[in-house]
Amino acid sequence: MKKEYLLTPGPTPLPPQVSLAMAQPIIHHRTPQFQEILKEASLGLKWVFQTANDVFIISSSGTGAMEAAVMNLLSYGDTALVVQGGKFGERWTEIAKAYGITPEIIDVEWGKSVAPEEIRKRLKANPQIKAVFTTLCETSTGVDNDIASIAKIVKETSAVLAVDAISGLGAVDIKTDAWGVDVVVAGSQKGLMLPPGLGFISVSPKAWKLVEASKSPRYYLDLRKAKKALDKNDTPFTSSITLIIALNEALKIMQKDGLEYIFKRHKAMAEATRAAMKALGLELFAPTAASDGVTAANVPAGIDGEKLVKTMRDTYGVTIAGGQDELKGKVFRIAHMGFIAESDIITGLACLEKVLTQMGYKFNLGAGVKAAEEVFLK
Ligand SMILES: *Cc1c(COP(=O)(O)O)cnc(C)c1O
Repeated sequence: MKKEYLLTPGPTPLPPQVSLAMAQPIIHHRTPQFQEILKEASLGLKWVFQTANDVFIISSSGTGAMEAAVMNLLSYGDTALVVQGGKFGERWTEIAKAYGITPEIIDVEWGKSVAPEEIRKRLKANPQIKAVFTTLCETSTGVDNDIASIAKIVKETSAVLAVDAISGLGAVDIKTDAWGVDVVVAGSQKGLMLPPGLGFISVSPKAWKLVEASKSPRYYLDLRKAKKALDKNDTPFTSSITLIIALNEALKIMQKDGLEYIFKRHKAMAEATRAAMKALGLELFAPTAASDGVTAANVPAGIDGEKLVKTMRDTYGVTIAGGQDELKGKVFRIAHMGFIAESDIITGLACLEKVLTQMGYKFNLGAGVKAAEEVFLK
């Protein structure tokens, strides 16, 4: 017998109510019953996105919504400012290139957040820039960018700001309208407590002008089609019926909790995890701007990082994430987002301590769990 715990930054575990909602018989999407659900889900999305803008639901993983943002905002030959600094910042660059858009890159050292002033400088130096692409929570490094400050800068220019909040939304605050973020992209399988398969994108009136002007080839991800359908409580193609029913359920849970409580809960789990790393003598990969959604820690010298993750998963059923690309084997990442709770963090830390001990790493057994408990007791 092995009990499974999922502590990865996507997918994240599902609340039982969400799983049960998906076990019901399928209904047809062009019906008043489904339209009622879609209407409710759309309102719930505006709430969690903190916006009055339309939030479109796309049947794709998060990257599909990123691609929708690029192709709908820009055209071949346009220039975009892209903040890198991790695997997901790089993804904006790759998508832009695929559409013949010239990326002007701000190369941030992995583990650091972007300096908002650098964005101001680049926008001033190059008035050709039509859009700025950045990331709320850079899941690969465990860093949060200062979206409030970035939005303040971009708002004063003619450029639009698009933020990848795929792993951040529902875990880290992003005040779309109050801060003036034009486009926010999210995915279902991270902070929103759903299986993978849905992408979301909100679009401001300023950004909508670009959507209407874009000359990029587009069909399935054409937001003009999505808008026409959404205005009639519909989706342009067959809706992801089951996932949208689940979305409605997850949003109800979140609305009951309230955003303030949700962010507080994530902050407490993040602080507890960071305190545990310190108590175990482990360095955070991103000591400044550490995210409240996921913690990345350096694998200590002499320990095989990939084996650590594999043993926790295959022997004890606790799945954390390793490093991606250049961080493979060098960091491990513990997620604290969505339906992950205090009890999961304690379990995950206890398992980490056990496997680190077995691998010969020296520390006071229980020190990490103790440090985390002390944060939770505050
Ligand atoms: C997970 C993630 C993505 C990729 O989303 P997919 O659902 O795998 O397409 C993009 N950006 C960030 C920040 C993520 O965490």
